[in-house]
Amino acid sequence: MPSLLLHPSDPCWIPGAGDRFSDLLEKLGLIDTTLKAGRSGDFQAGEQFINLIMFLGCSPRVALEPGEADEGQTACHLQYHLYPEVTFLSAAKRPQVRCPGCRAPAGEVDTSSHVQSVTCARCGQTVQVHALDWRRAAGFGRFFLEIGGVYPHEAVPSEKLLDSLREHSGGAWQYFYTG
Ligand SMILES: [Zn+2]
Repeated sequence: MPSLLLHPSDPCWIPGAGDRFSDLLEKLGLIDTTLKAGRSGDFQAGEQFINLIMFLGCSPRVALEPGEADEGQTACHLQYHLYPEVTFLSAAKRPQVRCPGCRAPAGEVDTSSHVQSVTCARCGQTVQVHALDWRRAAGFGRFFLEIGGVYPHEAVPSEKLLDSLREHSGGAWQYFYTG
């Protein structure tokens, strides 16, 4: 199933003990915890969902409730993923990664450890593998917010959502698509 995944740029960040992350999302209107989603652990889209996740195109057909989904379509719903260690998630087809500095292709990189160093053959910049340009098709993290039912590049998170997440976690967030 296609998804849009948001995650902190700091791959080690997770909500601290007592961090009511879902309160933030509910206050923003991204989720509505009073609605029961299809599967346990899922949140249904809140009333500001469509303003926080901006669908592109002239008249996107967005299903926010399971009953609205066309055949073969999945209603948008949200879910957290929390991993005990930094995990690499990727679209089925792994992207051709690039140097974040000069955009030169980084070739095949080892994703077994997010702190592995990669030195760009063109500009000489050395970065950890998680900081490469994953072309919005993969990312490293322990904490991911998944918005299911979104096709690659069909929608983007709004500045307001990214700003709120940054304020909450104290660092920038990124996003990518799977499916
Ligand atoms: Zn470079």
